[in-house]
Amino acid sequence: MWRKLFSLNIESLHEDTITQKAFALIFAVLCSMKIIGLALLLFSSCAVVQNNDFVDRAEALMGDHYYVYSLPFEKNKSYLVVQGYESKFSHKGDYAIDFKMKQGSKVMAARDGIVSFARESFSEGGASSKYVGKGNGITIKHKDGTYAHYWHLQYNGALVSVGDTVVQGQLIGLSGSTGFSAFPHLHFEVTRQPRISREDFPVLFYTTGGPKFLQPFRRYKAL
Ligand SMILES: [Zn+2]
Repeated sequence: MWRKLFSLNIESLHEDTITQKAFALIFAVLCSMKIIGLALLLFSSCAVVQNNDFVDRAEALMGDHYYVYSLPFEKNKSYLVVQGYESKFSHKGDYAIDFKMKQGSKVMAARDGIVSFARESFSEGGASSKYVGKGNGITIKHKDGTYAHYWHLQYNGALVSVGDTVVQGQLIGLSGSTGFSAFPHLHFEVTRQPRISREDFPVLFYTTGGPKFLQPFRRYKAL
């Protein structure tokens, strides 16, 4: 049903992009040459190829949640997706999107809701386990009971407070790289539970090409 609703071209989602294939090849070559450091740097800075098998399961994963989100940044700005759904770096089995965003970039609400969590006290981040659970973020509860999480915000980067009502497109925060984060980016995901990474599921976004599941290594412009 949702496929008809959003007239999605599911077939196109099964094709890995040339960039993704090239990236995977470079990664494999670097590994075989034992240049693991460089391979890992590439891996952590861009994160690797997405498995698009989830598209076959998307209908079941989404359940009744057909909502199409706006991209969580300023209109007319475009940002690169560096990790998508079920990406093999840190989103294994997760339905989260990482947008590469410079520190201090404006983060906008992707959907109306009420702020249920906001934290901006942490100032550090990195790709070490010691930073896990130490990221700044905002959680917004939607009227259908789902939650959107906007993560790795900069110190003092939460511009809304718990209990605030926010509307789609409203400025809510400033991106950063706090917590478990190898480089400045915005981690966005939607869950059925109040906490991040609990029962997350794939969502569609409005793009210049219509509602889509976002793909890694592509830039998307907010409408
Ligand atoms: Zn992420």
